[in-house]
Amino acid sequence: MTHLFHRQLRQTLPEAASAKGLYITDTAGKTYLDACGGAAVSCLGHNHPDVIAAMAAQMARLDYAHTSFFTTRVAEELADTLIAQAPEGISHVYLLSSGSEAMEAALKMARQYFVELGQPRRTNFIARRQSYHGNTLGALAVGGNAWRRAQFAPLLIDVTHVAPCYEYRDRLPTETPEQYGQRLVRELEAELLRLGPDTVIGICAEPVVGATLGAAPPVPGYFQGIRALCDRYGVLLIADEVMCGMGRTGTLHALEQEGIVPDIMAVAKGLGGGYQAIGAVLAHGRVYDAFDSGSGQFMHGHTYIGHPVACAAALEVQRVLQREKLVEASRVQGLALRRKLDAALGGHAHVGDIRGRGLFLALELVADRASKQPFDPKLRLNGRIRDEALARGLMVYAMGGTIDGRHGDHVLLAPPFTVQERDLDTLVERLAESVEAALAGLP
Ligand code: PLP
Repeated sequence: MTHLFHRQLRQTLPEAASAKGLYITDTAGKTYLDACGGAAVSCLGHNHPDVIAAMAAQMARLDYAHTSFFTTRVAEELADTLIAQAPEGISHVYLLSSGSEAMEAALKMARQYFVELGQPRRTNFIARRQSYHGNTLGALAVGGNAWRRAQFAPLLIDVTHVAPCYEYRDRLPTETPEQYGQRLVRELEAELLRLGPDTVIGICAEPVVGATLGAAPPVPGYFQGIRALCDRYGVLLIADEVMCGMGRTGTLHALEQEGIVPDIMAVAKGLGGGYQAIGAVLAHGRVYDAFDSGSGQFMHGHTYIGHPVACAAALEVQRVLQREKLVEASRVQGLALRRKLDAALGGHAHVGDIRGRGLFLALELVADRASKQPFDPKLRLNGRIRDEALARGLMVYAMGGTIDGRHGDHVLLAPPFTVQERDLDTLVERLAESVEAALAGLP
C-alpha cells in the first residue's frame, strides 16, 4: 500500500537507493546503467563531489532568500556565467525551477514584450506538431503531441501547429535536405500569413526534437529560414532547449550548430544536471530592452525562482563542464556511440533510423525497413524495449508517438557526458539484447 500518487498507478517500480557516476542502485542491490540521464538530465552523472560540496556550502551560508526582497551572489554569478557562454546578443537570464516553468515564462515574456512595444494585438503562437514543451497548461498548449493534449484540449490557449522537421519520414525522395527544409519554411510562412503576421507573438520549436520524435535534428538551412521569417515579420523565435541544450548535442546550445540566435531560449534539465530543480529563460538584449525602457517589470514570478541552492548546483555544474571539457566530450563520445550503434544495429531489419547529435541519439523501430511501416501501436514495442532494458540493468527513454496519424517507436539515449568507452560498449550490448528480446516477445 502506497500513499504516493505515482505517475502510473498500476506499475510497481524498483526503489532507487543510491547513485554514483553512471549507475543507479536499487534497494535490492541491482545496478542500472543510466543511458538516458533520467530524461536527458544527468549530464555529469550522479553524486559528483564538487556539485554536492557547492550545494552544501551554499546551504550552510544562505539557504533561501525570496527574490522580491533580495538578489544573491550565487544567482548573479550563475547569470554572468550563462551569459558569458551564450550566443551573441543574449543578454539576460530569468531563473525558474523546471523546463515547463521555463517555457511558461518564455511564452509570457514574449507576450509582454509586445505589450511593452504597444502591440497588444499579438496573441498567437505557432508551434510544431509532434513537439513537447512541458506539462503545465501554457507549455502543453504549444506542445503538439496529440495524446498528451487530448483530455486537456478545452483548457488550452489557441496555438496553431505546423509540420515538424522529420527528415526520416517526411523528406520526399525528390528533395534534397535543403529543399525539404525550405518547403517547411514556406508552409510556416503560409501559416503566418493566414493568421496575419501582426497577430503572431512567436514561433516555438525544439532545435533537436526530443521526447516526441527521438532526437530528430533539423535539416541544413531550416532554422535559418525560420529566423529570416521571424525577422521579416517581426515575430519572436522561442527556442526550447530544455532537453537538447546545455551541451547535450555537442555544443552548449543546440542552435549554435544552425548559426542563428533565438530571441528567447528556455533551458533546464542539464542546467542543474539533476542535482537541483532549475530552469532558465535566456533573453536577447532587444527583448530585455523593451521591459527596461517600458514598464520595468516582468509580470511573472514564483516562490522558488533563483533558489540559492539550485543556483549553486547549476553554477558548479557549469564549472565542472568547463573544467572537465565535457561539452566536447559529449560531441566526441556521441560520435563513438553513434559508430557503435551503427555497427550493432545499423543493419537490423527493424531499425529504420539511427539519428541525433552529440550524446543525444535515438533509434526508430519499424516493422519494415523498406516501406518504413511502423509497428502496430497496440504492440507497445517501445514499452517492451524499456522493460527488457530495465531487466538487464539499462535505463533507456523509450516512447511511442503518433504523428499525423502515423505511429513511431523510438528509443532515446542521453547518457552523462562523463560516459567512457567501456560504458558505451555495455550500453550498446544491453540495448541490442533488449531490442531482440522485445521483438522476440511480440505476439
Ligand atoms: N521542453 C522540452 C523540450 C522537454 O523535453 C521537457 C521535458 O521533457 C520540457 C520542456 C518540460 O520540462 P520539465 O519536465 O522540467 O518541466
